[in-house]
Amino acid sequence: METMQAVVKIEAGKGAVYTEIPIPKISDLEVLVKVRTTSICGSDLHLYNWETWSEDRIHLPRVMGHEMAGEVVEVGKMVKNIHAGDYISAETHLYCGRCYACLQGRQEVCLNLKILGFDQDGSFANYVCLPENVIWKNDPLIPKDWGSLQEPLGNAIDTVLAENVTGKTVLFTGCGPIGLLGIGVANAAGASEIFATDINEYRLELALKMGATQIMNPGKVDVIEIIMDSTRGAGVEILIEMSGNAKAFAQGLEALTPGGFASLLGLYREKKVPVDLNRQIILKGIRLVGITGRKIFATWNKTTQLLKSGQLNLDPVITHKFPLSDFEKGIHLMEKGTCGKIVLYPPD
Ligand code: NAD
Ligand code: ZN
Repeated sequence: METMQAVVKIEAGKGAVYTEIPIPKISDLEVLVKVRTTSICGSDLHLYNWETWSEDRIHLPRVMGHEMAGEVVEVGKMVKNIHAGDYISAETHLYCGRCYACLQGRQEVCLNLKILGFDQDGSFANYVCLPENVIWKNDPLIPKDWGSLQEPLGNAIDTVLAENVTGKTVLFTGCGPIGLLGIGVANAAGASEIFATDINEYRLELALKMGATQIMNPGKVDVIEIIMDSTRGAGVEILIEMSGNAKAFAQGLEALTPGGFASLLGLYREKKVPVDLNRQIILKGIRLVGITGRKIFATWNKTTQLLKSGQLNLDPVITHKFPLSDFEKGIHLMEKGTCGKIVLYPPD
């Protein structure tokens, strides 16, 4: 039996192991991909830590990971448009293509959605098995180290471009990897001023490199006062919530100008997040949108074009590169928050 190296969540509880397992077998509709780069997402850390939702959701053992790029090495008998040798990335929302949402062109909220690396074996491995309908052929002009970042960049693009940010003042609450990518997108799209908050100084510095014009640590300064002073008392026109922190969200709503727009990507630990609907949303005339995943494949197309245009440099966001065998170093850095995106390289 042919084997490969993989990061596998074997048992309930904290942890995962780097171990040898069989190379997966493809069905007629799938392709086998040799993974070249795969990056760590915040949700991988949650799975590693076996947070409360994991117990009900995850069937073990499970190969972790979903942000990836690699080469197709084998295709199923019924695969039509993908060929061995293609350099690809994958949409990680595995959609059915038949449900109401899919038929409306909203595959990202498919009613039968499965997530790569959670509901099906993922990409922290030498090889990953993927259905043809989630494959995106990568543009050869995009730097190889950026390949796996297209997936979280897609989150950032849809969150930031949910409203026209050109010439507008924007506040990012949360400068984790996706907040940082979002700042780059807002900068490329011509936002006039980009305020960014985080309680993590390391990430605030990265925010500056990505184009933030004003960084603020809410533990140290009065964010609302600074924003009101800088906007002649108006507040920001657009809030991009990238923290998943209820206090940051509340602060963002306070900072938002009447008639403003809020785009929410952050996911909250709390089941219910308090909002004063009358005062903070309705009577202020705020428009608010929730973003999940990316548009399949419209966002991937936008991602490609933006990266090819040279207007968005992802290098400052990639703070660490490790061999896959060192994945735990990456997990620990993510836990501490002293990192941007961490890219892992499986052995050849
Ligand atoms: P992350 O956890 O790495 O980043 C969140 C950042 O928010 C951290 O840097 C943290 O220090 C900061 N933060 C915490 N408290 C804060 C506060 N009070 N004020 C300002 N900042 C604060 O997450 P990420 O990978 O960058 O992703 C961003 C968010 O988007 C997360 O909540 C994640 O779960 C969510 N997410 C959603 C989707 C989706 O499809 N909706 C997809 C991916 C990620
Ligand atoms: Zn569906």
